[in-house]
Amino acid sequence: MKLSVRKFWNSKTEPVRVVIVGAGFGGLSAARQLEKHPHVEVTIVDRTNHHLFQPLLYQVATGGLNPAEIASPVRTLFKNSARTTVVLGSLTGLEFDKRRAVLDNGRETLTYDYLILAMGGRTSYFGHPEWERYAPGLKTLEDANRIREQVLLSFEKAERARDPESRRRHMTVAVVGGGPTGVEMAGALAELRRHVLRREFKNIKPEDARVILIEGGPRLLSGFPEKLSEKASKELAELGVEVLYNERLEDIGDGFLRTSRRTIETENIVWAAGVGGHPLSHLVGSETDRAGRVKIDHDLRVPGQDCVFCVGDMMTLDGAKGKPLPGVAPVAIQQGKLAAKNIIRLTKSKATRSFSYFDKGSMATIGRSSAVAVMPGGLTLSGWTAWLGWLAIHLTFIVDLQNRILVMMRWAWAYLGWRWNVRLITAPLEHEIETVPSDKSRLTNHRPLALAVAKNKF
Ligand SMILES: Cc1cc2nc3c(=O)[nH]c(=O)nc-3n(C[C@H](O)[C@H](O)[C@H](O)COP(=O)(O)OP(=O)(O)OC[C@H]3O[C@@H](n4cnc5c(N)ncnc54)[C@H](O)[C@@H]3O)c2cc1C
Repeated sequence: MKLSVRKFWNSKTEPVRVVIVGAGFGGLSAARQLEKHPHVEVTIVDRTNHHLFQPLLYQVATGGLNPAEIASPVRTLFKNSARTTVVLGSLTGLEFDKRRAVLDNGRETLTYDYLILAMGGRTSYFGHPEWERYAPGLKTLEDANRIREQVLLSFEKAERARDPESRRRHMTVAVVGGGPTGVEMAGALAELRRHVLRREFKNIKPEDARVILIEGGPRLLSGFPEKLSEKASKELAELGVEVLYNERLEDIGDGFLRTSRRTIETENIVWAAGVGGHPLSHLVGSETDRAGRVKIDHDLRVPGQDCVFCVGDMMTLDGAKGKPLPGVAPVAIQQGKLAAKNIIRLTKSKATRSFSYFDKGSMATIGRSSAVAVMPGGLTLSGWTAWLGWLAIHLTFIVDLQNRILVMMRWAWAYLGWRWNVRLITAPLEHEIETVPSDKSRLTNHRPLALAVAKNKF
């Protein structure tokens, strides 16, 4: 491995300045590792003020959890860390020659001795960014809120609709992508309409709503063993989810989705099909893969940049079997830790270490009391035991105690009687939009309402 080009630290000189961009799993784990070292000063920059627990976003999107219960203020996480500074800001540029990270279009620059880029990825629409307007992805709290509002509002519109066609469109939800996120979303939506919304409406039967899961390949959960894919599809069928296989998506537009085999009329499309690299990957100036992830060296440094590390969803690196590492939290956490350790090694003029991923297995939940899991060593679990494991692991990974307790209590409460009560619709209603047309900021966030007005759908 490369040796450091410059020894930055000895006890009589300045502390080593490390800037970490991104307070996701990778950035937090690096910061936690570095705060143990008295000669290091860390600045952690994020464009949001919270660390987001993305694996539970689908529960926010389906009314099971409050947004704040999966988001922990970064400042609170580091309030007891004397040498860690938190900055709310957005990285917009990199000046490698001056060792500076540029924030907020040049309003501020941070000088570093070492930089860790941990900015995650983004939802990818396979070259069709125009689909995003009709099919929100699930990556941020805004996405989850948007989906929740869109789905709940659709049921409200169906309740008032006089035209059966319109009612049908509002009572159809299509989820695109049969990976873990798509399976979890479809399962939760099926439960929402069958167990939670049931008996709450007078003119419609929410339990009759169609939930369709569209997968481009021949099976769900392609990263899991085949028998778990079969289990998942059986469990989803029991929940009444219609799973379509080998359906190549051709178009998504206002109120419809077209695959190679059919057109589905629906006002609710959720995109769970693709994740790509960060939109600012090009700033790194290094080669990227087809999805836009930065190709990095085995010690997690950006090729040609001795002081710049890149970890988590933002990067691509081949694992032990020559296959790219998966975009999952344990990869980001383990890489964040190693990047921090390698920085410490460099400050001591020691050789860096290569990343070796310890695969802790994979899990996906399908519904209440049902999940599939592959454990380390290849052992597979399904049903109740896998679900209990899923609950325990997700609780452990939530980074702050308060949210851990709140989520546990909400799950227990929901378990006792299908109480998913986080069902806020805060979008303005149509007549409000009509009377306050200048309120553009609210309009843009709530496409379904705005479009419904335009098409006079009620
Ligand atoms: C819906 C969903 C479900 C998932 N479920 C699972 C699961 O069950 N198990 C699992 O292991 N993994 C799961 N994942 C994947 C896992 O969440 C990611 O692999 C992990 O979050 C990657 O961590 P990261 O630190 O690389 O990036 P992130 O956690 O995405 O963090 C990136 C951070 O960078 C910040 N940022 C971005 N751009 C900038 C900028 N320009 N300036 C400043 N800050 C910036 C963001 O605000 C964010 O806080 C899921 C992902 C999603 C979207």
